[in-house]
Amino acid sequence: MEKLVSLCQRRGFIFPSSDIYGGLSACWDYGPVGVELKRNIREAWWRSEVQERDDMVGLDTSILMNPKVWEASGHLAQFSDPLVECKSCHQRWRADDLKENKCPACGGELTEPQQFNLMFKTFMGPVEEAANVVYLRPETAQGIFVNFQNAVNTSRKRLPFGVAQIGKAFRNEITTGNFIFRSREFEQMEIEYFVKPGTDDKWFDYWVEERLNWYVKLGIKKENIRLREHGKDELAHYSVKCIDIDYNFPMGWAELEGVANRGDFDLKQHMEYSGKSLTYLDEETREHIIPCVIEPSAGVDRSVLAVLCDAYDEEIVNDELRVLFHFHTDLAPIKVAVLPLSRKESLSAIAKDVYADLRPCFVTQYDDTQAIGRRYRRQDELGTPYCVTVDFQSLEDNMATIRERDTMNQIRVPIAALRDTLQAKLAGEDLFVLPEGGQIWKDEKK
Ligand code: ATP
Repeated sequence: MEKLVSLCQRRGFIFPSSDIYGGLSACWDYGPVGVELKRNIREAWWRSEVQERDDMVGLDTSILMNPKVWEASGHLAQFSDPLVECKSCHQRWRADDLKENKCPACGGELTEPQQFNLMFKTFMGPVEEAANVVYLRPETAQGIFVNFQNAVNTSRKRLPFGVAQIGKAFRNEITTGNFIFRSREFEQMEIEYFVKPGTDDKWFDYWVEERLNWYVKLGIKKENIRLREHGKDELAHYSVKCIDIDYNFPMGWAELEGVANRGDFDLKQHMEYSGKSLTYLDEETREHIIPCVIEPSAGVDRSVLAVLCDAYDEEIVNDELRVLFHFHTDLAPIKVAVLPLSRKESLSAIAKDVYADLRPCFVTQYDDTQAIGRRYRRQDELGTPYCVTVDFQSLEDNMATIRERDTMNQIRVPIAALRDTLQAKLAGEDLFVLPEGGQIWKDEKK
């Protein structure tokens, strides 16, 4: 993990928040490369779970909500963790995280656990009084439930259908850490999938499998993912059944996503607290029913961390350490780097034309700084799948080389064919499938 944290900082993936002031506990900033990676993860999720499906619509609801929402959802009363304090060193711990009943820092005696509510409070308007308290949402899900009727009426979806949302959530976690695994401000990708009561078990199984496959499709190794069903004592107050999708992080197996069968708890609660009907007219029986809901709830930041851990690799090439990220091409922050062999005017003119041609199609970086070998290594550390090199021979034959990140193999193709060739390679075509006039080039390892 330490290697990853330092590489992420050095290459512009992730920085500690407000670093020049010494940081802020458990808050992180995504840098120029990290922001692209994070966007790609969000977009991959949105595309496959919303845009490519007939049975899903999206929402983007506000972070601040009427405080009644949190009464109805049970968060005000129950969204808490047991907090214990060490009587000697006064450090605070989450009681259910501790293996023994003594302070992990100094071995001191601990206080009795007290329930500590994890919601951040603030005030709406200029007067700081109890009547004006609002909360930063601790999950995006409730924004979906309170809009259930709006979503049904405006989208005209019939059961089963889902509503999806990506957005920030805030939790005043007692113990944070493991980089971006547990922070106090994070992002969630949540689906509430509404189904007819009685079909919920079937849909629960469907979503566990669908979500597991999503990670695998994006290149996460199968052996690094497992399913873990919650025991009865672990289930949240609303949950009928819950399965965690765990990832084998450097600190051990931990939750990447939770899939829960929430029954009809949320809609019922909001009906009771708002006095509004949140029922659904069953077209066959003409009866008003309250749907059950299956909730796949994933963390964007935990997905970023899993993708980083899974893609990280080290190897020795020509007696030197090569560090690289084997990102799936859909997730790679930069898809193509254009690297002129030298800064000579004649070469940079062609290289800039190539860059201008590729940039509208792929996130492309232009780099003419150091020796070519060092520039390749830099792109490896950014996880860039393809580097395009323009050399002196290009001036004569109008060809450029494409170098593949994972194998370091190279091909040489006509500049006019670069864009289409890269498009095909990024979509998964083998490097050695050549365009007309293309040839297999040298291997960097020799
Ligand atoms: P944990 O048991 O790790 O505290 P949780 O079971 O409370 O997590 P959920 O309420 O199920 O988490 O939230 C759904 C998802 O949101 C989690 O699977 C995780 O990916 C993400 N998430 C929750 N809390 C955090 C956090 N503090 N930092 C980063 N991501 C989080």
